[in-house]
Amino acid sequence: MNFFNNSAFNKHEQVSFFYDQVTGLKAIVAIHNTNLGPALGGCRMWDYASDEDALYDVLRLSQGMTYKAALAGLPLGGGKSVIMGDPKKIKSEALIKSMGQAVESLGGKYIIAEDVGIGVEDMNQMSETCPYAMGVLKNNEGSGDPSPVTAHGVFVGIKSAVQYRLQREDLRGVKVAVQGLGHVGMYLCQLLHAEGALLFVTDIDQEKVSYAVQQFGATAVGLDEIYDVDADIFSPCALGAAINDETIKRLKVKIVAGAANNQLAEVRHGQMLAEHNILYAPDYAINVGGVISVYYEYASRYKGIEFNRDNIFAHTNKIKATLENIFSYAEQHKISTAAAADIIAEKIFQH
Ligand code: NAD
Repeated sequence: MNFFNNSAFNKHEQVSFFYDQVTGLKAIVAIHNTNLGPALGGCRMWDYASDEDALYDVLRLSQGMTYKAALAGLPLGGGKSVIMGDPKKIKSEALIKSMGQAVESLGGKYIIAEDVGIGVEDMNQMSETCPYAMGVLKNNEGSGDPSPVTAHGVFVGIKSAVQYRLQREDLRGVKVAVQGLGHVGMYLCQLLHAEGALLFVTDIDQEKVSYAVQQFGATAVGLDEIYDVDADIFSPCALGAAINDETIKRLKVKIVAGAANNQLAEVRHGQMLAEHNILYAPDYAINVGGVISVYYEYASRYKGIEFNRDNIFAHTNKIKATLENIFSYAEQHKISTAAAADIIAEKIFQH
């Protein structure tokens, strides 16, 4: 494998492979950039089809974290880790603690937290072998599940996009199509509903759909129909690649703003959205709330900064200004908002 010239490698500072014969741990930690501070990023546990798939995923995700932290004004770099294997089959306390030891051996250059397949309970266990494990919640201490803060950030971002594109301060009667009612999507619906937005929702899990219909007066929509809803905003809060050649043609909305990571199937879809006159709130700019929450847990432990809700929410509210900056930069330079976000982030971390 021609590793250093591989496009996914893209100037990573360090990539470490960990194997533990006793617990069966097979993991990769990728540290993309630490110009601004230690690399922070979640740990994903997934049954990858191949080692190459796992490596590609961790490299892509860690690079995204560098951009995310830089745009949010956090003194952090970007990193990510993956544990290979089906969490339902091979996850054990011993394996999680073994991952903690692996991360501990990096001496604080990488800060680890939850991602797909890894929850708060896992982070509690990991913290027993690793002082750099965050997203912990023990005896009411730690940041725990980052989803409510992520949802708050997406809500702030949606309001910023509405102000910019629809010239409106409030959300009363604004129609939002929400794809995915998971940890973030459901909290987001609650916030949007409280501000008078009209919701159209879909999820694979019909129980979640029924809950949103009952609690928030949402209109249930089929999994594929969500792209055709005659709404103002499409909010992808499920998996990645919701924005692609096929869906852009169908969208009737004026704004795309949601929590999902990697919303654009390919980079060029950012430009395609702009050509369709749809304002895109770049995913890594709008969904950073959870990272901010984890950062304050880290900062309270290592930098003497107070960990409290006010600090976290005040920092998350800055997503409004970040997005306004991206929107106006894109307009001024006649480029997509996705390209504008990348340029602004690179200026911050490539000093
Ligand atoms: P989650 O797993 O709790 O929720 C995802 C939901 O999407 C589930 O209810 C699932 O049934 C549904 N879903 C899956 N495929 C779907 C489809 N094709 N159509 C409709 N619904 C579908 O995840 P989450 O924590 O809510 O995160 C949602 C997204 O936001 C993910 O892309 C995640 O990477 C991203 N994100 C989450 C956080 C966080 O703090 N949790 C932070 C940043 C980004």
